Amino acid sequence: MELTNTTAIVTGGASGIGEACARALAAAGARVVIADLQDEAGEALAGEIGGVFAHLDVTDSAQITEVVERAGEIAPLRALVNSAGIATAVRTIGRDGEIASAFPMDTFASVVRVNLLGTFDMVRQAATVMSRNEPDANNGRGAIVNMASVAAFDGQTGQAAYSASKGGVVGLTLPLARDLSSAGIRVNTIAPGLIDTPIYNSFPDPEEFKAQLGASVLFPKRLGAPAELARMAIELITNDYMNGETIRVDGGIRLPPK
Ligand code: NAD
Repeated sequence: MELTNTTAIVTGGASGIGEACARALAAAGARVVIADLQDEAGEALAGEIGGVFAHLDVTDSAQITEVVERAGEIAPLRALVNSAGIATAVRTIGRDGEIASAFPMDTFASVVRVNLLGTFDMVRQAATVMSRNEPDANNGRGAIVNMASVAAFDGQTGQAAYSASKGGVVGLTLPLARDLSSAGIRVNTIAPGLIDTPIYNSFPDPEEFKAQLGASVLFPKRLGAPAELARMAIELITNDYMNGETIRVDGGIRLPPK
């Protein structure tokens, strides 16, 4: 699929993997709509890559409608990367035998709301706008890439909510591809391993923590670079024969229990 004279939306595009995808899509010729909660970083990146920033909370359906309609008005909307996501680490039960110490249901629900429901809402609304496009030479109207996680398969201690949300994204991939096939829209999912992004900034000593994580990768023994993920996203968007698949991009890591 050709990206020149099209728009591409990247949720979570102000940071990390989403930012790298936004840069790569712009380099491939798309006008990128960076849709994120972070206004300052999003505006700055949009200025740098000739894109557009749209404030978006993916848990707000009405905001999604505005963003996808606006993107489709700039140029035909042909690509969507769903990179907005949040992570938590909470054990299912506490150590004191009190039910009050068990995993808070609000926390579980908010992770699922952003990572899974937000992804699905973006897909159903963006794909509706894509379905209005003229088909290209391959009868295609658009391509969608979701960011799941290797935690969808090897969820670690404390990752019940995160893994459930990402497992949901993996589970969505084939039925979405099937639902959207008649409109000429392809859907693929990337399951990133451990990638060097600001997602680790909330840890007490992020650099040391990241070095430890890197040592656990099969090869190469380091965290992945956001640009390495973006390369896969571009491949999944532009290669017309990729559809309905989830691909791990993880240096061969298999996460241990902790
Ligand atoms: P990041 O924190 O650098 O970027 C995530 C972006 O999503 C942020 O800009 C944030 O503002 C935005 N966001 C969060 N909630 C949002 C909401 N409700 N609406 C709109 N935007 C929202 O993280 P990252 O590491 O680049 O992660 C990108 C995706 O890749 C996430 O879905 C994450 O779960 C997944 N992932 C990351 C890793 C990793 O090691 N970094 C591994 C596996 C999967």
